[in-house]
Amino acid sequence: MQSMYFTEEHQLFRASLKDFLQKEVVPHIDKWEETGTIERFIWKKFGDMGYFGLATPEEDGGLGLDLFYTIILLEELQKINSGGFAAAIWAHAYLAMTHLNKEADAYLKEKYLRPSVDGDKIGCLCISEPFGGSDVAAMRTTAIKNGDHYILNGSKTFITNGVYADYMIVAAKTNPELGNKGISIFAVDRKSEGVTANKLNKLGWRASDTAELAFDNVKIPAVNLMGEENMGFSYIMEHFSLERLIMGVNAHARSEHVLEYALNYMSEREAFGKSINQFQALRHRVVDLHADIDMCKEYNYSVAYRLDKGQYVVKEATISKLKSTKVADEVAYECLQFLGGYGYIEDYPMARNFRDSRLGPIGGGTSEILREIISKIIIDKKEYKPATV
Ligand SMILES: Cc1cc2nc3c(=O)[nH]c(=O)nc-3n(C[C@H](O)[C@H](O)[C@H](O)COP(=O)(O)OP(=O)(O)OC[C@H]3O[C@@H](n4cnc5c(N)ncnc54)[C@H](O)[C@@H]3O)c2cc1C
Repeated sequence: MQSMYFTEEHQLFRASLKDFLQKEVVPHIDKWEETGTIERFIWKKFGDMGYFGLATPEEDGGLGLDLFYTIILLEELQKINSGGFAAAIWAHAYLAMTHLNKEADAYLKEKYLRPSVDGDKIGCLCISEPFGGSDVAAMRTTAIKNGDHYILNGSKTFITNGVYADYMIVAAKTNPELGNKGISIFAVDRKSEGVTANKLNKLGWRASDTAELAFDNVKIPAVNLMGEENMGFSYIMEHFSLERLIMGVNAHARSEHVLEYALNYMSEREAFGKSINQFQALRHRVVDLHADIDMCKEYNYSVAYRLDKGQYVVKEATISKLKSTKVADEVAYECLQFLGGYGYIEDYPMARNFRDSRLGPIGGGTSEILREIISKIIIDKKEYKPATV
């Protein structure tokens, strides 16, 4: 079916990206999954291809393209079946770099954004803390002003790219007594004195490094404050829409990919004298999964369209992640089942997909927190507004 969202240029971009991923990434994925380390050369290759700069304006070294190029990047990254590799790439390009795109001044753009576009510097976004991730306002990390520096103390956890990144976008309380109105965002060199990292061992997303970070009297130059002091909570909330849509898109793309794989397998696998795709019990389940994926995909595209037009789609992006990650978990479970014993074997893609999928309803806001947000909007009539309005 001809898409109303993707032009011929988009399709050409998709074709060349697919080709790039097959040639440059796929041969290394199993190794990176095993070592939990993505080799540095691939970051530079992504930079050289312009993939990190899709959403960065041309004057800052990017390509300034519409959001559907980003959607294509996200979708194709899911289709090489390494949630961890995909996460490392999008956490850099859309978690760390979104803050740089939106809040960095000329100095910080030169120092962090341009090298991020080029693949010379890798970033991470540090919000979650060991004492609680869902309750962002309760964070305990502080950055207290002292002359021309801030002194950073505290800790973060579950930070994607946190071990191998070159810089961190860190949320900390500059005025702890003000609660969520006292949070600011800083760009911090990962190698700054007083920063230590511990790599976490995870169920899935195994190619990406996930860090626990400790900050012990880390000196941050005052010029590394991003945007306005004490506006951090609003910036975080504003960018959550994109992050949640990203996780929704990842979920529909991953689901589409594994269902296609399962269907192919089912057409070849025989039982009781016929291919297993002829059993009605399985056919009907396939149909339900296909229908759910289609609904999520079309919904996610419509949210992307509205976000790209500058609309503040808090409710819609939250629904996108809530529903698409739930569907993806069901698809992961069912498609593994369609492969029988082979679904449980690492040589087949379902086992990794099953593990990777489980992060969907947790990272970037748990499903429970997403329901809280949606209930505030639809029941309490709460209105969310962007920080910059
Ligand atoms: C692999 C991985 C990568 C991640 N990457 C990043 C990253 O790059 N940067 C970053 O900042 N964070 C990252 N995170 C953190 C992630 O966003 C948090 O794990 C998530 O927000 C939940 O926080 P928590 O783990 O502290 O759970 P908690 O907040 O402790 O919640 C525990 C449980 O209680 C439930 N709960 C909490 N509050 C409520 C409530 N009000 N009502 C109902 N239920 C509630 C939750 O839904 C959950 O089920 C990552 C996490 C993982 C696992």
